[in-house]
Amino acid sequence: MNSFDKTSKNNIRGGGIDITTNKALNQQLDPALLRQALALIHSAQRIAVIAHEHPDGDCLGSALGLAHILGQVGKTCVIACADPAPGNLAFMPGIDKLQHTLDNEDYDLVIALDAGELSRFGSLYQKHQAFLERVPILNIDHHLSSSGCGNVNIIDPISAATAELLVLFQQQAKLPLNKDAALCLLTGIITDTSSFQFTNTTARTLEASAVLLRAGAVPETVVQPIYRTRPLAQMRFQSLVISNAQTSCNGRLIWSQATDATLAIAGATPDMDDNFSGLLRDIEGVEVAVFFKSYGDPNITRLSMRSAAPYNAAEICQRIANGGGHARAAGGTLHLPIDAATKLVITELERIMCT
Ligand code: 5GP
Ligand code: MN
Repeated sequence: MNSFDKTSKNNIRGGGIDITTNKALNQQLDPALLRQALALIHSAQRIAVIAHEHPDGDCLGSALGLAHILGQVGKTCVIACADPAPGNLAFMPGIDKLQHTLDNEDYDLVIALDAGELSRFGSLYQKHQAFLERVPILNIDHHLSSSGCGNVNIIDPISAATAELLVLFQQQAKLPLNKDAALCLLTGIITDTSSFQFTNTTARTLEASAVLLRAGAVPETVVQPIYRTRPLAQMRFQSLVISNAQTSCNGRLIWSQATDATLAIAGATPDMDDNFSGLLRDIEGVEVAVFFKSYGDPNITRLSMRSAAPYNAAEICQRIANGGGHARAAGGTLHLPIDAATKLVITELERIMCT
């Protein structure tokens, strides 16, 4: 049964959200859109909550947070993601139940989080394409470049994290919020703002976080494994990436690479490279930073880009690297060996930045 047309978009794009008028957290979403989303949830019993491939704290924290919320109103939720969770997110309650397939596809609803294109769900999409084309989908995301992949799409690029948007959803829908849900959602907000350091942090981000703290989430639980106590192999990996970095445009452009060989030298695992592009971006004088990586298949290179205004990372990644994201943080994938991918992207950035 599919009473919605996935091609007719019911998006909110900040337009349904007003952070300038001091509206309460429970009055931020377009009521009609919220009703449509809740109708999808109410008519479902078994729900698959899916997180994008190469997962991060926001997509997994959002998926787990929402599953804990919906579990309290009697729904059976399964969380799924194409790739394994990074080791530093092991503290999130329920992460041990993360699935990498939608097993026998017996779900009434899929809630797709933190990405607006089904292709961003990687092998989950490839394995279950026919099912995902026919099952009702609720898409909740905060990316600028999202096109909306659901029957109902709640997309708000003003939210610092999908988890922030889920707090608005929980508040306005008056859904229960327990301590486990709060901790997972706080993980999403903390990781997507780098502990409230990034410019995406708004007063509303802090208000949503305060709701989570009142529900019992402790920031230290998130911050300690993610930003403080890191494995030695990860620090070695980081130092290799920094020492191999190259610059152009008088240091305004910086990039570095990692391959299986880099991992082997450091004794590191692929999930340890989170936010390396952010690390490069924080070097003095840098305006655009790119981290290129190729693990496993040497003909596939992923890139992670960070930029300062006026450079729009989402636009550049969408245009030249089959990717997207946010204006200041984006990524993409090229079906090229790492050196060819690096040349292609850096040549384009030099054209934009140095001429
Ligand atoms: P990161 O560089 O940390 O992997 O990603 C930065 C942001 O861009 C994240 O919000 C992430 O979801 C998004 N992003 C990364 N890779 C892709 C991609 O290939 N396609 C799209 N649409 N977004 C991406
Ligand atoms: Mn996010």
